[in-house]
Amino acid sequence: MAGIYIHIPFCYTRCIYCDFHSGTDMSLQSRYIDAVCAELDMRIDEIQSQPIHTLYIGGGTPSQLAPEALSRLFTHLSKYIAWGECREITIECNPDDLSESYIAHLRTLPINRISIGIQSFDDKDLHFLRRRHSAQAALDAIARCQAAGYNNISIDLIYGLPNQTLEAWDRNIDVALSTGIQHLSAYALIYEEGTALMKLKEQGLVQECNDELSLSMYSRLIDRLEEAGLHRYEISNFALPHYEAQHNSSYWNDTHYLGLGAAAHSYNGVTRRYNPADTRAYIESLEQGSCCYEEEQLTELDRYNDMLLTRLRTRKGIDEANITTHFSTALINYMYRMAQPHIQCGNMEQVDGYLRITRQGLFISDTIISDLFAVE
Ligand code: SF4
Repeated sequence: MAGIYIHIPFCYTRCIYCDFHSGTDMSLQSRYIDAVCAELDMRIDEIQSQPIHTLYIGGGTPSQLAPEALSRLFTHLSKYIAWGECREITIECNPDDLSESYIAHLRTLPINRISIGIQSFDDKDLHFLRRRHSAQAALDAIARCQAAGYNNISIDLIYGLPNQTLEAWDRNIDVALSTGIQHLSAYALIYEEGTALMKLKEQGLVQECNDELSLSMYSRLIDRLEEAGLHRYEISNFALPHYEAQHNSSYWNDTHYLGLGAAAHSYNGVTRRYNPADTRAYIESLEQGSCCYEEEQLTELDRYNDMLLTRLRTRKGIDEANITTHFSTALINYMYRMAQPHIQCGNMEQVDGYLRITRQGLFISDTIISDLFAVE
């Protein structure tokens, strides 16, 4: 079982908090799609022995692709993917791209899951984040997708914005729950190096939400979504039963994936490969018949640390029987030794053969994970 991720590095405008690789030069779109198709031809052997069960088109803003470019990409993918066997085909979209005609075009493709970057249902927040859409436009986009027959819709929200109150966050949750979506991802606002948001912070023009309030927002989110039937299956991800994101779960479950496009990563169980985070360089290398990339051979320690980083984020946790076949006894003993203090104080627990972070431990999950990390 394998997955394909395709990165679309185009955005109409840049949001102030974002450090994902993307640019606003749409004139590169056609050459970029050609390059992705060429990379797919070049690398499909890396996963073709396994059935491709998930396809994720992320970005950037994939919904900024012209309908013709998107169709061309899918026509090419059809050479290698049996759509009937591919369980989940997701495209990330911005609300204001989801016009009736764009959605109608998406319906002509095998896409069965729409992930909408909404971030907030408050126009003040959206303006601050330099999002293009309004809260109403986001609601309309969800309704149009539903009316067009999409019944697997995910939205992204951000909490912990400057000056955001717990009550304002609650209102966001109210609106999200009123939409009838199947999946929600929520992230605390992060001040990433090099972003416009970080500059504002350095200039003293915005003040970070304090940790206590941010944790209260997260706690409120978990309680309210669980009450509404969207269970937390990963630290930032919530879904109705059977709507957990299969592609993202493959990152957490050690499934191999092929990452195509600028800044895309690939993983085959032994190596991790990184395409350049430079759209022009990516296009030019493919036009010259090669694909430049960096590759990292994963040592046992790398794989162990990756396993912690991904599986401890899941509600299920680490399969204790399974890890004995993947790691040395010394490393496993080290993991339990480091986990012990967290188990004793209730931040971790061992349940039904899984070692996992408890609800109490969720609030310090980064600390727990880094405590269990192993270094040479
Ligand atoms: S958050 Fe999304 S839309 Fe905004 S700049 Fe980043 S990738 Fe583009």
